[in-house]
Amino acid sequence: MIDFESARRRLVSMLKDEGIIKSDRVERAMLSVPREEFLPNYLRLYAYEDTPLEVMYGQTISAPHMVAMMCELLDLKPGLKVLEVGTGTGYHAAVCAEAMERRGTIYTIEYYPGLALYATQNLARLGYLGIVHVFIGDGSKGLPKYAPFDRILVTAAAPPKVPPKLFEQLSSDGIMVIPIEERFTQVLYVVTKEDGVPHMRPVTYVSFVKMRYSEE
Ligand code: SAH
Repeated sequence: MIDFESARRRLVSMLKDEGIIKSDRVERAMLSVPREEFLPNYLRLYAYEDTPLEVMYGQTISAPHMVAMMCELLDLKPGLKVLEVGTGTGYHAAVCAEAMERRGTIYTIEYYPGLALYATQNLARLGYLGIVHVFIGDGSKGLPKYAPFDRILVTAAAPPKVPPKLFEQLSSDGIMVIPIEERFTQVLYVVTKEDGVPHMRPVTYVSFVKMRYSEE
């Protein structure tokens, strides 16, 4: 039997020591979500290794440090309306839900129906479906019906610029966190709106799966 609780506490304490986890809010969220529940059985052993893991269709669950860092950058609080592009396993959405004290709404959109189903099952088992709503589709177009969003979290690397439809759907005082493909690498940006135009603050180099695009 693996003692997941202790492993989770060890990882969170390491992420705090490394300065990745900065706030009590993100610390509590990382401590409350069982990452092993978002992994197939054969990967559970690695749930608290600080590394991405390949789940299905060549897609990955992000590394815990990346989930924590993005949650810190998003400055989450109760009551927000959040859009996540790239549901994957549902883990990151669950951590966001906890950082929002399970108050507010998270819309998350996944390209692969099989992953959306897997995430929905994981989120349902842990009681997150009241706050997290899973959609299937091309998230680069956002979810205009539910816009504007206070926060937009993108977990697949976008082409050299922010998808315009996503930017349109960010509220005027909103925050978007998004990995962007650059020439030889990817850079994580915090994007805000200044007089209607994107203000882009680079944070660090990252490595995400590429964002997929459907035909218009
Ligand atoms: N947040 C996830 C990890 C995401 S990996 C987690 O916590 O597990 C990135 C995900 O983005 C993959 O599942 C991939 O299928 C999805 N994706 C890629 N392009 C997309 C698009 N255009 N719209 C929605 N999802 C997309």
